Amino acid sequence: MGLKLYNSLSKKVEDFKPLNPSVVTMYTCGPTVYDYAHIGNWRTYTLADVMHKALKFNDYKVKYIMNLTDVGHLTGDNLGDADIGEDRLEIAAEREGRSARDIANYYIDDFLKNGEKLNIQKPAKFTRATDYIQDQIDLIKELEKKGYTYRTTDGIYFDTNKFKKYGALSGMTEESIKEGARVEPNPEKKHPADFALWKFSPTDKIRWQEWDSPWGVGFPGWHIECSAMSMKELGDTIDLHLGAEDLRMIHHQNEIAQSEAATGRQFVNYWIHGAFLLVDGGRMGKSLGNAYTLQDIESKNFDPISLRYFYMTAHYRTPLNFTWEALQNVQNSLKKLYDIVGGYKESKEAEVDERYLEKFLDALNDDINMPKAIAVLWEMLKADMDESEKIKTLFKFDEVLGLNIENYVGFEIPQKVLDLVKVRQEYRKVGIWDKADLIRREISQLGYVVDDTGNGYKVKRKI
Ligand code: AMP
Ligand code: ZN
Repeated sequence: MGLKLYNSLSKKVEDFKPLNPSVVTMYTCGPTVYDYAHIGNWRTYTLADVMHKALKFNDYKVKYIMNLTDVGHLTGDNLGDADIGEDRLEIAAEREGRSARDIANYYIDDFLKNGEKLNIQKPAKFTRATDYIQDQIDLIKELEKKGYTYRTTDGIYFDTNKFKKYGALSGMTEESIKEGARVEPNPEKKHPADFALWKFSPTDKIRWQEWDSPWGVGFPGWHIECSAMSMKELGDTIDLHLGAEDLRMIHHQNEIAQSEAATGRQFVNYWIHGAFLLVDGGRMGKSLGNAYTLQDIESKNFDPISLRYFYMTAHYRTPLNFTWEALQNVQNSLKKLYDIVGGYKESKEAEVDERYLEKFLDALNDDINMPKAIAVLWEMLKADMDESEKIKTLFKFDEVLGLNIENYVGFEIPQKVLDLVKVRQEYRKVGIWDKADLIRREISQLGYVVDDTGNGYKVKRKI
């Protein structure tokens, strides 16, 4: 069975047929780099990573781009009008007393570090919106030439009435847009769905980031960056475009309008939207104090890989509810997996088990069904098979799962750790608990844990 994907555009599961079978093109809407990414954001980026790896597992070469939004994403999108409010980067600059550029650099750095911890493979390129200003201006000029734009007092807008296919992805109507907005519609917009391509700088304030343009000093609207960067890096039509479901209604709809109005060609063949992560059954948000970061996860002694595993316990189109207890359960499963493979012996001659490989691939190709793929893993662990073949097959699975299985297979405990464990046992025998504890900490620093069992102890690698 080849890869099948649910396409949000057709609202159907379709056979995946790339435009150019030798290189699949993929784009993911990346973070707005004004703050730390939270575990909801990471769910979406992990989905993109799993998709990237599942394509490679299917022997496709993939050219994958993710953007970094460092300008133009205004606070109004939370209120149903993304063209009003403050630029998130400018607010962060004020908040932290640093330049917008410094803010972006700092949060990009943090994003990359945390992505590594989650075993997210880097795309071919991260494209920064501010590095593509001229491309965005050129695209707006093209739209202007073709008659899709108009001017208001605060910017250049896209005239959605002129683009007949507007709404094909979102299914939105004029009424639903009005109902969805929690602010008065901008009276200068010809239609509530119209959106800014270029915004003018305020006259009473100097922005950290602003550029000259044929229309006046200002900055690009939020949506135009993705159209400009995707088309510049990957071509007018690409295979896959990913993001969370909240982007489908407006951001992605607007990307389609801008791109297709400019080129006359289809912008994206397969739109993939991930469902949201909930926390304790509800929305997550900074004001609710539950927008946990990866740092929060780690400070509670969870391995970021447990979070990665947690994401894969639900299908990407199903909302997933985060609780600390659920994460603990997943971490226990991961520990169990590591314990099992820790006892396995490798053999160079072993072969991958084709039957389980196929089952795993079938799960991936069933619209990236990760719960099913993980079930295949557990089923194989229980199967009557040679350990070394299980290992070979697990390594193959881990190309997509990214659970660091290799680090835990048939490991040998270093002599130094064994010596420390022995000394600790001596202290315990005579009841010098504080010394024993000190040594436990030293063992932990070396990356191991000692579990005291009824009649002895067991040394394991720490997760
Ligand atoms: P932002 O940095 O706000 O531009 O968001 C980055 C990405 O995270 C976007 O694709 C959002 O749609 C996505 N996102 C935001 N909140 C959640 C959530 N609770 N669950 C999953 N994805 C989310
Ligand atoms: Zn985007």
